[in-house]
Amino acid sequence: MLETSPPDIFDCQTCGACCAYSADWPRFSLETDEEIARIPEKFIAADESGMRFEAGRCLALTGELGKHVGCGVYADRPHVCRTCMPGDPECRIARQALGMPVDDLPDFEGMNEE
Ligand code: SF4
Ligand code: SF4
Repeated sequence: MLETSPPDIFDCQTCGACCAYSADWPRFSLETDEEIARIPEKFIAADESGMRFEAGRCLALTGELGKHVGCGVYADRPHVCRTCMPGDPECRIARQALGMPVDDLPDFEGMNEE
């Protein structure tokens, strides 16, 4: 998602919904200690379970939701952030929850890696 999404599929940089859907979403899963250590501490939740979520969005999310957004830890973002792809079920849930249209999303065809 975000910078990984080619604009001809769907431009995630005009969205950001999956980064602002739920505090439970940008969680760590299979990250190694080394991977987590590359993320600045200020962006990590107090219980170290994932990214810090404040004011309804991941603290690393920059810009304005639904207009132009970016990831402040793009190169080191959690695995869950890498696997969410435009049009997949999580993407659709996030966009719908934030009142964003889903009709223009691509059909999900099993893409699950960047
Ligand atoms: S919710 Fe979907 S379209 Fe929006 S940034 Fe995430 S993957 Fe991209
Ligand atoms: S780490 Fe980056 S891609 Fe993941 S939820 Fe936060 S802003 Fe979005």
